[in-house]
Amino acid sequence: MGREEGWLAEHMLILGVENPEGEKDYVAAAFPSACGKTNFAMLIPPDALNNWKVTTVGDDIAWIHKNEEGKLHAINPEAGYFGVAPGTSYKTNPNAMETIKSNTIFTNVAITEDGDVWWEGLTKEVPENMTDWTGKKYDPTSGKPAAHANARFTAPAYQNPVIDPKWNDKEGVPISAFIFGGRRSNTVPLVYQSFNWSFGVYLAATMGSETTAAAFGEQGKVRRDPFAMLPFLGYHIGDYLNHWLQFGRDLPNAPRIFSVNWFLKDESGQFEWPGFGQNMRVLQWIINRVKGRASAVECPIGWIPRYRDMDFTGLEDFSRDHFKKVMSINREAWKQEFLLHEDLFAKMYDRLPKEVFFMRELLLSALWRSPEKWELAPERV
Ligand code: GDP
Ligand code: MN
Repeated sequence: MGREEGWLAEHMLILGVENPEGEKDYVAAAFPSACGKTNFAMLIPPDALNNWKVTTVGDDIAWIHKNEEGKLHAINPEAGYFGVAPGTSYKTNPNAMETIKSNTIFTNVAITEDGDVWWEGLTKEVPENMTDWTGKKYDPTSGKPAAHANARFTAPAYQNPVIDPKWNDKEGVPISAFIFGGRRSNTVPLVYQSFNWSFGVYLAATMGSETTAAAFGEQGKVRRDPFAMLPFLGYHIGDYLNHWLQFGRDLPNAPRIFSVNWFLKDESGQFEWPGFGQNMRVLQWIINRVKGRASAVECPIGWIPRYRDMDFTGLEDFSRDHFKKVMSINREAWKQEFLLHEDLFAKMYDRLPKEVFFMRELLLSALWRSPEKWELAPERV
């Protein structure tokens, strides 16, 4: 329907963000399943940035229309949330926990002695005398989880304490930026802004996520998931990409497009970036970029922030060197990355818009001319 009627039906969360001046923006973000949509949609800013406010419009689906002025408006067609239970706790996502306090259906979770629900990650201690998700008495020494890894909760959206006042508005909310991101332990920096709409479509089309826990520096264990839509596309991906390119052509002020990666890892397999609430700092830079208030420098793949372009107050242990690590763009790794894009394009060659090939060539030639490790050299920081 979206393709035929000229709108977008996407696998995206929608969130509202209000800055200290009281200006409100909305962004839509596509992350493949299990890559942080629900967490991002319910983000709680860190103390140092608690004058910024994040509200949820939706955490999974966005239907996006152009209005008369050519502005994009999005609605969340869902009435509630259908989230993965394991890992959800008051520590990781307090807003989700508040949402599922009542009127909630749980599937494949464990049941405690007193009839409450339980899953791995809910509490540190494993309660005694539980029934596991298969209905059998749970044996904690079995090495098996009590709840299924894909145990779920489903709850009404209005129970979310940070639900956006416009979450049910039939006009939808105006979208200022699109954000795309997968789970990548290397190569893809914390954040970058695409040069324009078409390059944004390219970055979204080639988005990937690691399926297995890849070893440090290992390449190629990436499952490409264009626009996080792989499981949901109802028609040929080549036509879908054409639809996106066409959709952006007559927008007078198209939303800016960004790539994020919360999942970079160091040599010992630890996350390089603290993530969760701290993602507010990236969101803040994105909003300031959209408003023309934050600076950036051009690099071969897009626009990236310098250390001074982001706000790290209250995150004192995140040093400039640390920042360099999460923002470095390695030429050899990216050459490999563009080779892997070629594999993806080969699978949809017959219907692929030809712009995509040209954009790949442009990106590749920019990369060839770049320094071996395009990181923030002192003169650029
Ligand atoms: P969704 O399926 O896209 O809605 O993803 P969820 O929000 O349910 O998160 C999936 C998994 O990613 C959970 O285990 C989260 O704890 C984890 N996660 C979410 N955001 C972050 C982050 O910023 N950093 C890290 N390291 N993990 C995250
Ligand atoms: Mn989710």
